[in-house]
Amino acid sequence: MSRFVQGADRRQPTLLPECLDDYVAEDCPVRVVDVFVDELDLKSLGFEGMTPAATGRPAYHPAMLLKLYVYGYLNKVQSSRRLEREAQRNVELMWLTGRLAPDHKTIADFRRENGPAIQAACARFVVLCRQLGLFGAALVAIDGSKFKAVNTRDRNFTAYKVKRRIEQVAEHIAGYLQDLDAADRQESEAAEARSGRLVEKIDRLRAQMAMLKAMEAEVEASPDSQVSLTDPDSRAMATSGRGSGIVGYNVQSAVEGEHHLIVAHDVVMTGSDREQLASMAAKAKDAMGVEALDVLADRGYFSGEEILACETMGVTPYVPKPQTSGAKAVGRFGKQDFVYQPDQDAYRCPAGALLRRHMTTVEKGMTLHRYWDRASCTGCQLKPQCTPSIERRVTRWEHEAVIDALQTRMDLAPRAMRVRRRLVEHPFGTIKAWMGHTHFLMKHLPNVKTEIGLHILAYNMKRVMAVLGTKPLMEAMRA
Ligand code: SF4
Repeated sequence: MSRFVQGADRRQPTLLPECLDDYVAEDCPVRVVDVFVDELDLKSLGFEGMTPAATGRPAYHPAMLLKLYVYGYLNKVQSSRRLEREAQRNVELMWLTGRLAPDHKTIADFRRENGPAIQAACARFVVLCRQLGLFGAALVAIDGSKFKAVNTRDRNFTAYKVKRRIEQVAEHIAGYLQDLDAADRQESEAAEARSGRLVEKIDRLRAQMAMLKAMEAEVEASPDSQVSLTDPDSRAMATSGRGSGIVGYNVQSAVEGEHHLIVAHDVVMTGSDREQLASMAAKAKDAMGVEALDVLADRGYFSGEEILACETMGVTPYVPKPQTSGAKAVGRFGKQDFVYQPDQDAYRCPAGALLRRHMTTVEKGMTLHRYWDRASCTGCQLKPQCTPSIERRVTRWEHEAVIDALQTRMDLAPRAMRVRRRLVEHPFGTIKAWMGHTHFLMKHLPNVKTEIGLHILAYNMKRVMAVLGTKPLMEAMRA
């Protein structure tokens, strides 16, 4: 044992430092939390209880509770009960709170009642990063990830799930009724007992069927044909694994290219990313304070309208086009085999024929032009590879030039998607690991937004501490 490092004797009297400050190193991250919150104008951010009530028991100052949470999220202690315990035994927290240890209900109420103000406080850190010049080139990568909600899959109902469950229950009832008939035909004591058990089971299933019928009506009345019982705002969403899915929220984030800081985020209740590009790009552009911005996103974000909206606000998107051509899938020419001729407003087909515009329709609010040339298709050698119809028709959106320009950009930037993956996928993995790969702690969208805001603040704070160091960061905050 003598060759091992020896610990101190527990009963040995020691001369402890007299001041709590001596226990906390000068460059300890807890000091950054302290300075960050002290420098915030909590009243203008909207925190409640900034003016103490004239009567009653004195309340805790919101700054102390906010420090408690920021420290907790920086150190993977997010639950109010665990924060209560940590405040009683953790020296850094004793230093931070002045040895105050609120009960878990006070801590939880503060997070629930000050959601927008906490989110605004988190956003202030992004502003600070911008003031410190930490955002380099005007480039962000946008991505979404599904986070679990406090709602099991069994307590989420979609029209398909309810229909399947009703069919299963009906099958079970029919099976038990047959068993009941068979048991009734026998006249033994055992058969009588069996009949009793079967009747109980059938009654239970009938009650379940009544519940499912009521749920069917509820699902039908719901705007997105979905009902979640525990957290009503959570939604069933498909994840990247084949046949897998979760009940949760879709967290969107925009990560800048220089120091990989999360400049903008959002939480949405839809699993698809298709309608998120423009709004996330606008948030990122605003947060970075730039006039022009390059945005990288995966093919899940591809949408003509979103790409057009980006271009109109000075954002240049890089999004690969999904291969959804039915013709290509069955071995025929895809749309990319037809070349648009802007000067003639016509398409040049693989056989060299010119397909002219013949009609215009409006579908789902999009103006679409159709091009074809029946004369050329009749008797064309390549027709078997082109179309089973009389002629091949090509559809063009009125703003398709925006998509053509995007394709040219993508061809000239073959590494764009690799850069996107490197920037934006890592933060989600880190945050999920800090959460313990479990669900959110709170229910309802506004509360979930507060939680993710605190996670992102913790992520950004750790990054900036690693980039600048704690002391320069504290000096910058005080300046
Ligand atoms: S079938 Fe018509 S559109 Fe297709 S290659 Fe022949 S001429 Fe061109």
